[in-house]
Amino acid sequence: MYGIVRAVSLLAALALAAAFGPDAFRALTPDQGLFAAGAFAVAIAFGLLRPPTAHFERSVRPTPESDRVGLLTPVLLSVLVVDGWFWAAACNVLAYLFRAPRRRGQPIRERILGAALRVPAWFAAQLIVPQLRALVTAAPTLQMILWFVAVAGSYVLLTDLFWIDPLTALRQNRSLLRIWTHHLTDRATMLTVAVEAAWAFVITRVALHEGPLLGLAALAPLIVLAVTLVRFARVNARLHRLALSREAVDAMLRATDPQPQMRSLLESVNPRIVREAVEVAAFGRAGTDRWSRVVRFGPPVVAELEHLGARVLLELQVTGDDIASDAGQDGIATAYAARDVQGRLRGALVVYRASGAAAQVAEREFARAASELGPLLGEYGAIAATRSAASVDTLTGLPNRRGVTRALEDTMALVRAGGSCSALLLDVDHFKSINDLLGHQTGDRALAQIGRIIADNIRGADVAGRFGGEEFLVLLRDAGRERTLQVAERLRAAIQAGGVVYADGKPVTISVGVAYARAADGPHDVIERADRALYRAKNAGRNCVVESPLLAV
Ligand code: GH3
Ligand code: MG
Ligand code: MG
Repeated sequence: MYGIVRAVSLLAALALAAAFGPDAFRALTPDQGLFAAGAFAVAIAFGLLRPPTAHFERSVRPTPESDRVGLLTPVLLSVLVVDGWFWAAACNVLAYLFRAPRRRGQPIRERILGAALRVPAWFAAQLIVPQLRALVTAAPTLQMILWFVAVAGSYVLLTDLFWIDPLTALRQNRSLLRIWTHHLTDRATMLTVAVEAAWAFVITRVALHEGPLLGLAALAPLIVLAVTLVRFARVNARLHRLALSREAVDAMLRATDPQPQMRSLLESVNPRIVREAVEVAAFGRAGTDRWSRVVRFGPPVVAELEHLGARVLLELQVTGDDIASDAGQDGIATAYAARDVQGRLRGALVVYRASGAAAQVAEREFARAASELGPLLGEYGAIAATRSAASVDTLTGLPNRRGVTRALEDTMALVRAGGSCSALLLDVDHFKSINDLLGHQTGDRALAQIGRIIADNIRGADVAGRFGGEEFLVLLRDAGRERTLQVAERLRAAIQAGGVVYADGKPVTISVGVAYARAADGPHDVIERADRALYRAKNAGRNCVVESPLLAV
C-alpha cells in the first residue's frame, strides 16, 4: 500500500512539474529568483547538517537525532509566499534529496520516492497563498501576525496529520490513531509550529518589502540555530553514552551481565549494530595478555566462524592494527580495536558475517562503536585490577585473607549445588622461634618460600591463600576425602623438604587441619572445624595432618 502511494506520488510530482514547471519559471522575477536560490542553499545546508528539532517524533524508537528537519518549515513557508507553491515544493524536494544518509548505501531511489511524497502537500498549499500574501503585505499589526500564524500553522499541522502521519502509519505498520494521539498531545509540536510560522512571517515580510537580500539575511539565524543544535546534540549523545558506559562498568564490576547496558551503548551509535552478529571482547583483564568474551548480540554464529573470530582477535593483538579481518568458507570475521584514552588495546568489537548475509551497518559505524567501548573496557580493567590488588598478599603473592575468604564463599555456592570442597588450614610450627632467633626478615623470607611451595603443590582449580600471620588456607574443589588427605600430606612433606630451616638447622614443618564443607555450612563453620583439627594436630606433636571428624555428607 505504501509502495502504491509512493509510486502515485512520484507520478503526480512528475506530472505537476511538467504542467506547472515552465509557467513557474517564467513567472519568476529576478528578486524572487534570488530569494529562491538563497532558500535552496539554506535547505541543502539543513539537509546535510540534519539538525535535531523539537518536532514531533514519529519513529517507533526515538533517537537523539531526530528524523525531521523542522527548521526547514519557516524557509519553505516563506518560499511558498514569496515564490509560490512550485518553488516551495522544489525546495522541499531538494532538502530531502540532500539529506545526510543514515547508513551508507541508502539507495537514491528511496530518496527520490521519499522526496516526491512532499510534492502533493505543497500543491495543496496554493489555496492559502493569496491569504498569506495579503496578511504579509498589510500593515504588520499583532492581529495580522496572529492570523498569519493561524493560517500557516494550520496548514503545517493539517499536512502533518492528514498526509505525513498516515504515511508513517503505513510505512511502520502502526495504528494511525496512536500516532495522532501522540501528535496532538505533544505540546512542543504546537508551540514549534506556531514559532515557525511566526518566523516565516518575518522572513516573508522582509523579503517582500526590503528585497531578497535582507530576506535571505533573515534566514541566516536559522543556519546558526541549526549548527548550534547539531553541536548540542553531539554533546548530548556523548553524555548519554558516558552514562551508559558507567552503568556497563558497574554491571561488570558487580559481576552481573552487562548486556543491557552494552546493548544501549551500541544502539546509541547505530541501532542496527546489535542486529548483526557482534561480540564484545575484553583484552588484558587481570594483567594477562588474554582475550575474554564479554557479550554477544545478534544471530548465532557457527563454530567455524567463531574460530575465525579468535584468530582476528589475535591478529589485532599482534599487529597493533585497528582492524583485522579474516574470511573463510562460512563467512568473514572482522575485529575492530577498542582502545582507551592512552591508546592501549583494551578490547574489540568482533563482527561475524555469515557468507551471503547482507551488511546492515557501514564499517565506520563499527569502528565508531569500538572506539566508544575502549574507555569503558579500560576503566573496567583498571578498577578490576585495583580490586584484585586489594585481595592479594604482597609478601607471598597469594590471595590474602579477604581473597581466600571470597573464594571460599564462591565455593560454598558450588557445594550447595551438589559439589564438594575441602579446606586445609596450615600453620607453621614454632614460627615464633624463627623470628626471635633469626630475625623478622628471615621470618618473612621463610613465609614467602612456604607460600611458593604451597602454590607449586596444588592444582589450578584449587585455591591457596595466606589466611593470617603464618597460617595458610588451601581450598580443594571437588576432591574426595582420599585426595584431600593426599594433598595435605604432600604439602606437609614438601614444606619439610623445601629447604626452609630453623635456627638449629632443622627443617621447618607445618601442622595441617582438614575439614570438609557441608551444604548447610557457612564459610566460617568450615574454617572453624579446620582450626579445631589444626589445634589437635599441634597437640599431637606438630608436623602432622589431622582431619575433622565431621565428614562431608
Ligand atoms: P605453633 O607451632 O604453636 O604454631 O608455634 P608458633 O611459634 O608458630 O606460634 P604462633 O602461631 O603463636 O606464632 C606465630 C608467629 O608468627 C607470631 C608472629 O610474630 C609471627 N608472624 C605472624 N605474621 C608474620 C609475618 O608476616 N612475618 C613474620 N616474620 N612473622 C610473622
Ligand atoms: Mg599461628
Ligand atoms: Mg605457628
